[in-house]
Amino acid sequence: MNESKDFLRTIIDEDLKSGKYKEIITRFPPEPNGFPHIGHAKSICINFGIARDFEGQCNLRMDDTDPKKEDTKYVEALKDAVKWLGFEWNTKVHFTSDYFSKLYDYAVELIKIDKAYVDSLSEEEIRQYRGTVTQSGKRSKYAKRSVEENLDLFARMKNGEFKDGEHILRAKIDMSAANMKMRDPLLYRIRHANHFRAGDKWCVYPMYDFAHCLSDYMEGVSHSICTLEFENNRDIYNWVLNTLKLELPRPYQYEFARLGINYTIMSKRKLLELVQSGEVSGWDDPRLPTIAGYKRRGYTPESILNFCDQIGIAKANSMVDVSQLEFCIRDDLNKKVPRVMCVLDPIKVNIVNYDGCEKIDASYYPHDVPKEGTRELPFSKDIYIERDDFNQNPPKDYFRLTPEQPVRLKHAYIISFKELIKDASGNIIEIKVNYHSDSKSGVDTSGIKVKSAIQWVSAKECKKVEVRLYNRLFLVENPEGIKDINPNSLQIIKNALIEPAVINEKPDERFQFERQGYFYADPIDYTEQNPVFNKIVALKDSWTKKVKTTKTKANKIQIDGEAAPMNEEQNKAFNKYANELKLNNELANILARDEELSHFFEESLSLLNSPITLANMVANEVARELKQTTKLKFTPKQIAELVGMIDDGTISNKIAKQVFEEMAKSGENPNAIVESKGLVQISDPSKLSPIIDEIIAKNPTNVAKFKEGNTKLLGFFVGQVLKTTGGKANPKVVNELVAKKLNE
Ligand code: ATP
Ligand code: MG
Repeated sequence: MNESKDFLRTIIDEDLKSGKYKEIITRFPPEPNGFPHIGHAKSICINFGIARDFEGQCNLRMDDTDPKKEDTKYVEALKDAVKWLGFEWNTKVHFTSDYFSKLYDYAVELIKIDKAYVDSLSEEEIRQYRGTVTQSGKRSKYAKRSVEENLDLFARMKNGEFKDGEHILRAKIDMSAANMKMRDPLLYRIRHANHFRAGDKWCVYPMYDFAHCLSDYMEGVSHSICTLEFENNRDIYNWVLNTLKLELPRPYQYEFARLGINYTIMSKRKLLELVQSGEVSGWDDPRLPTIAGYKRRGYTPESILNFCDQIGIAKANSMVDVSQLEFCIRDDLNKKVPRVMCVLDPIKVNIVNYDGCEKIDASYYPHDVPKEGTRELPFSKDIYIERDDFNQNPPKDYFRLTPEQPVRLKHAYIISFKELIKDASGNIIEIKVNYHSDSKSGVDTSGIKVKSAIQWVSAKECKKVEVRLYNRLFLVENPEGIKDINPNSLQIIKNALIEPAVINEKPDERFQFERQGYFYADPIDYTEQNPVFNKIVALKDSWTKKVKTTKTKANKIQIDGEAAPMNEEQNKAFNKYANELKLNNELANILARDEELSHFFEESLSLLNSPITLANMVANEVARELKQTTKLKFTPKQIAELVGMIDDGTISNKIAKQVFEEMAKSGENPNAIVESKGLVQISDPSKLSPIIDEIIAKNPTNVAKFKEGNTKLLGFFVGQVLKTTGGKANPKVVNELVAKKLNE
C-alpha cells in the first residue's frame, strides 16, 4: 500500500473505526460489452486492491442489463484481465441478471407504495418534459395512474404484451429537482431481445440506476466505488435504498477520477469501432490499450500495477502522459529480462583474417550481477551486423564502424574495415574486415580504442525471425478515432536474424535485444519454424526527445542529442540556406552538414527555383536513399523535374513520394512514371464534386456535428475524399470545395 493514504482508504479507515461496517466489501462491475482497457485496470486495482488491503472481499460483477450489446466473450475477457493482474474475486462471478427476479420484486414494491409509475410518453416527450437546468420539468399525466393500474401494466410489460418503448417504469421523485437526474428517473424499459444468459424470459430490463444500487445491497457491498460521471446518480442510488427502507448496513457510493491517457482511445464504443473497421487485427491487437492487447504485446502485469499505483487516486479528471506507462514497462523489464542480440536489417561481414570457429560465453544479465545465466555465442568468419552500424561517409559524431574507425562486436572482438563489396548497381552487399585477435572482450590487451560496441550474429548458426515493430496507434494527443490513426503504427520485418540460443534455449519469453528495445515472443503466432517477436517498448523514450529536438531554437539544433560545431564552410552554407533561401533551421542544418547532400541540393536548385520543396525532398528522401546505397539511380535534374510537378499542381505531395520510390528503384524519369501510372492529380472541381457529395450524403451525423460548430470535422471529410481518390485529389481544391458544400 502507498505510504500516504488516498481519500478512499481514509474514508474506509474511519468507517471501520466507527463500526459502521464489520467487513469491507467492494465490487468491480463492468458491462460485458467490450474488452477491458487500461481504465478498467485502474478500477480493478482500486476495488480489488482495497479489498486486499483491508482483508475484505471484492466481487466481480457483470453488469449485464442491456441484452443488445453483451456477450460471453466479453465476460471471459474481463475474467481474464482480473486474473492476469493477479487478483481473485470472491467465490463466483456475479451477474446482475442473476438478480432479475429480485429486482422485479423491488420494483413492484415501489409501485405499491406509490413511488413508481408506468409512463406512456414517447422518448421525445420524456426528454421535453424533463425541463432544463434553469427550468423545472413537467410531470407526465400518466403519473396519476392508480397503484392497481400500474401493477397491471408493469406485469403486462414483463409478459411481453407491449412493444419496445411503448411504456416505461419511472420513479416518482421530483420533476423540479435541481439535480436533473432526480426528475423521475427511468427504472425499467421494455426490450424484446434475447439475453445471453437469461434467454427470452424477460421482456423488461432494469436501468443502471435501479439495478446497480440494489445489486450492491444484495451482495452486502460496503463501498461502491465508481467514476466521476456518476456523481449526480448518487442521489438516485440513495433514494432507491432509502425509499425501500432497506436494513443497515447499506452501501454508499464514492467517486474517483476516470483515467485518461494522451495519444490513447479508451471508450469501449470507440475501441469496438476500431476492431470492427479492421484497422486493427482484433481486441488483442498489440497497439490497443486493452488488457488483451497489452498482454499480447508483452507488457507485464507488474508494470501495469505499478503504473496504477503511481498515478494514484484523484478526485479531479486529468490526463496522464502515455510515456509514464511506457516508463513503467521499461523499468520493470530492465531488471528482469535476458539481453540478447538480434540484427534487424542485416548486412554481411566477412572477417578476412579469422579461420575456424569458437563459442563465446556471454552473460544473459550483464547488468544484474546477482542474476546468473549465460549462453554460448557462436563466432565465425561470416557474421551479420546492422546495416546502419557501418557508414562510409560518417557524420562527425558517428561512433560505429567506418573505413577509419574500428568498432567492438559485443562480447567478442574489435574489427577494422578492410574493403567493400558492391553489386553491379553499386549497392553494398558485403563488408570485409580484419579482427584483432588480442582484443577479445574481457581479456583485451590490444590497446585499440573504440567508441561503441555493436550487435552481431554468426551467419551459419543464426536463426531467421519475424519482428513486429509497433509505434503509437495515434499521432494526436486527443485522438477521436479512425481518422487520427498513425499509418505507420506497425512495421513488420520478416528477415531479422537472431542468435541461436534465443530459439534453442528459450530462456524467457521477453528479451532485451541489445540496442533495439524490449521484445516478446508472440503468444499466438510464434512457432519454432517461424518465430515472431513483438516490440514491447523502446529502450529510451525517443518520442519525448523527438518533440524536444524540434523545439530547440536556431543554430543550436541538436540531432540525436549530439551537436558538433560546424566548420567554416558548413557555417557559410547554413547561413545562406537559413537567411537567403529561408529554409527552416533544421533543414538548413541537415543540408549544410552533409557535403553530398548540399551539392545535390545546389545543383537541383540551379535548375529549378523552388528552394523549400527541393530542400525537403533532398534532406528527407534523397538523404534516406543515400544511406542505403552508394550510387543513386537518379540525378539532381530528375529531382528538379519531380518537384516541378508538385509546384505546378500536376501531382500531390503524397503522390510525389510514390513517384520518388519508383524513380529511386528504376531510375526512370518522373514525368514518364506519372504518365504511365496515371498519377496526375485531380484538381477539376467537376470531377471532385460528385465524390464529395457522396461522402457528405453517407455521413449525416458528422455533417450535423459540423453544422453545430465542430469545425474540426472538416479534416474528416477532406481525409475521406483523399482516401477515396487514392491520394490523387488536390487537397487544396478539396478543402475549398468541402468547406463550401458544408456551409451551404
Ligand atoms: P467505457 O466508457 O470505456 O465503455 P464504462 O465506464 O462504460 O467504460 P464499464 O464496463 O461500465 O465501462 O466499467 C466498469 C468499471 O470500470 C466502472 O466502475 C467504471 O467506472 C470503471 N472504468 C471504466 N473506464 C475507466 C477509466 N477510464 N478510468 C477508471 N475507471 C474506469
Ligand atoms: Mg459504458
